[in-house]
Amino acid sequence: MLSYARLLEQVKNIDVERYAKTRNFYDGHVSGLSPFISRGVISPQRVKSIILSGNSIEKSKMFISELAWREYFQRIWWQHGEKILTDFYHTQNPTVHDKLIRNITEGTTSLEAIDGPIRQLLTTGRMHNHARMYVASLACNIGRAHWLHHARWMYYHLLDGDVASNSLSWQWVAGIFSNKKYYFNQENLNRFSGSTQTGTFIDCSYEQLESLDVPEELRDTAEPTLECKLPESTMPQLDYDKPLLVYNSYNLDPEWRAQESANRLLLLEPSHYQKFPVAANVLNFIVSTARTFIPGIQVFTGEFQEIPGLQMFSTVYFKEHPLSNRYQGHADRPDWMFPNIEPRGSFSSYWKLCEKELWRNR
Ligand SMILES: Cc1cc2nc3c(=O)[nH]c(=O)nc-3n(C[C@H](O)[C@H](O)[C@H](O)COP(=O)(O)OP(=O)(O)OC[C@H]3O[C@@H](n4cnc5c(N)ncnc54)[C@H](O)[C@@H]3O)c2cc1C
Repeated sequence: MLSYARLLEQVKNIDVERYAKTRNFYDGHVSGLSPFISRGVISPQRVKSIILSGNSIEKSKMFISELAWREYFQRIWWQHGEKILTDFYHTQNPTVHDKLIRNITEGTTSLEAIDGPIRQLLTTGRMHNHARMYVASLACNIGRAHWLHHARWMYYHLLDGDVASNSLSWQWVAGIFSNKKYYFNQENLNRFSGSTQTGTFIDCSYEQLESLDVPEELRDTAEPTLECKLPESTMPQLDYDKPLLVYNSYNLDPEWRAQESANRLLLLEPSHYQKFPVAANVLNFIVSTARTFIPGIQVFTGEFQEIPGLQMFSTVYFKEHPLSNRYQGHADRPDWMFPNIEPRGSFSSYWKLCEKELWRNR
């Protein structure tokens, strides 16, 4: 596992010009930061300031706009809570079922440039952004399955799984959080993946694709079973004369109150993981990231209220987050990139305001 210093170095080394030109290609230059951003190890604000310390706004604009997509989704989660888990602006239409498409979940759709990334997701927890868009489009727009179970399936396997980025991206592709469904054909897939496959069920024009019956390859369905086994609970060693800092899978920030002498607890709440299950390798990633980046952290499986001797702490700190709203104590504010800008509609209207702010503060 990477050290924190190496992670900061990785951010410094992002070539923002190459990123802007190649990010949509499977072999393009992307940062690979999302598992660390999603787990709260490093904030988009910190990434942005490192990037801007070595690059002009003009050159960094594309990269920062992608960070802004993340912040935009987070802000919508903060504003609307669990509404993001339902059809947000429009109802998905048409749908033929709300199950999983078996060949998608097993990486056997017959589309080589889709099956490879799916198998990579199942084994490594990583998937390129463009492959995620293709998979979501295949499931929702060509396979006409409702987005929710597929989004939960993808979240389950992703090391960077984030409830807001995940469910709102799925809804964006399916034309629920946007005004248009996202489609791709074999020609587009080959261009960005480097595949040379032809003669597939998506080897046709966009007009044909949009009126296609659900292809044979996407008809077999499967019931979702996403098991999540948390580590056995052990009794943490706590010093009640010191404050308690509560971490979770969305806050593993090594710099958070780092100078304070405190108890540091990674809380794995069964109620959270029942609602948002994750695969064993994702859980291992969360626990090993916590242990690597936060010296002295202990892992506690249980609900917030079950933390042993909770009432005996004079201060309990945590970071404000939609998933921490049942915690009690002092909530530290998040480190937004654009704290004064609230989304009030589309991403492009939000980004226009962010861009103005970028130039104003240069
Ligand atoms: C269907 C679907 C599901 C997704 N699910 C998730 C998810 O669960 N968690 C998650 O973090 N991202 C999700 N994304 C967004 C995106 O795919 C990943 O953030 C990106 O692939 C991460 O790779 P990277 O760190 O190399 O990104 P880079 O391209 O290097 O971008 C830098 C950072 O900007 C943010 N970012 C970049 N693109 C996006 C985007 N389209 N939306 C939101 N933030 C972005 C990420 O924090 C990323 O680490 C999803 C996208 C789609 C289409």
